[in-house]
Amino acid sequence: MPSPNPRDRSPRSKRPSRPGPTGPLALGIDLGATKVVAVLIDAAGNVVRRGVRQPHRNDGASAVIAAVVHAAREFLRTGTDLPTSVGISVAAQVDPDRGWVLYAPNLRWREVPLGPRVARALKLPVRVTNDARAATYAEWLYGSGVGCSDLFCIQLGTGVGGSAVMGGQLAEGGNHAAGEVGHIVLVSGGRPCHCPDRGCFEAYVGGWAIAARARDAVRADPGAGRRLTAAAGSVAAIRAETVFRTARAGDRLARRIVAETDRYLGDGVVSVANAFNPRRLVLGGGLVNGRPEFVRVAQAAVRDRCQPPAAGARVVASRLGDLAPAIGAAALAARQ
Ligand SMILES: [Zn+2]
Repeated sequence: MPSPNPRDRSPRSKRPSRPGPTGPLALGIDLGATKVVAVLIDAAGNVVRRGVRQPHRNDGASAVIAAVVHAAREFLRTGTDLPTSVGISVAAQVDPDRGWVLYAPNLRWREVPLGPRVARALKLPVRVTNDARAATYAEWLYGSGVGCSDLFCIQLGTGVGGSAVMGGQLAEGGNHAAGEVGHIVLVSGGRPCHCPDRGCFEAYVGGWAIAARARDAVRADPGAGRRLTAAAGSVAAIRAETVFRTARAGDRLARRIVAETDRYLGDGVVSVANAFNPRRLVLGGGLVNGRPEFVRVAQAAVRDRCQPPAAGARVVASRLGDLAPAIGAAALAARQ
């Protein structure tokens, strides 16, 4: 694993003006459960070009890999700049040495040779990286983590991912999964998770879990859940975003669910900060776009509830936003 000094790669120090791309280009592809997003970066991390979200139907590995290859070809066909490497970020446990996805619950994949198949189709070297690790790498080199050698990034999206930079190194772990804090247990024997355990951080704060908690609350008290149901169209259609929107409009049940989510988020980030002792904790992922207040909530929890060595950690929002996983995957591929 390369470990460049982020201080040497500050976008501020390298980007006073941008006459053109710097060095070889890398294509980054973020593969999600429903979409593919492509981005082209240069050797200094500048986004040369970004593609539009290409939906896919999540109907099996072969079809999704075909959609990834199609999206990459279409994206490259619309420009003249060609990459020399490809990085793919995916919400999965991966084997980066072989480029295989070992387990991706949202894609329902096990043991899929994603990297080799895309490499063969595009005739380019491909590196596959877990999305939270890729996002952490991007934030460290080019985003909210620049200059910080002890950093933790939590991705709050459909699931909850995480990854750490400790002492200026991206923490690896025995199976490339260090920092997967979405499955620390907040509630012993609590709500079922998508992993084999119960009561996980993700099972309360992940987007799917916020939606599930809201649907349960509405079914338990349909009268109190009237506005949530109306906002979504049906109980089954309630999403985390519906909960945030309805809470902002003043609905009591939605506000209760958001307040509970804040408390669980606080529990999770306090545990993470105590365990890893980061100087900076970056919150990214789609849920932070839907509820930016999560950053303030997490900062207050760390300040008020952590033990003294951890309480000084600064909590910041992702600077690279939705593009962080694709940028990080591309940067890792370029340094392979
Ligand atoms: Zn879990």
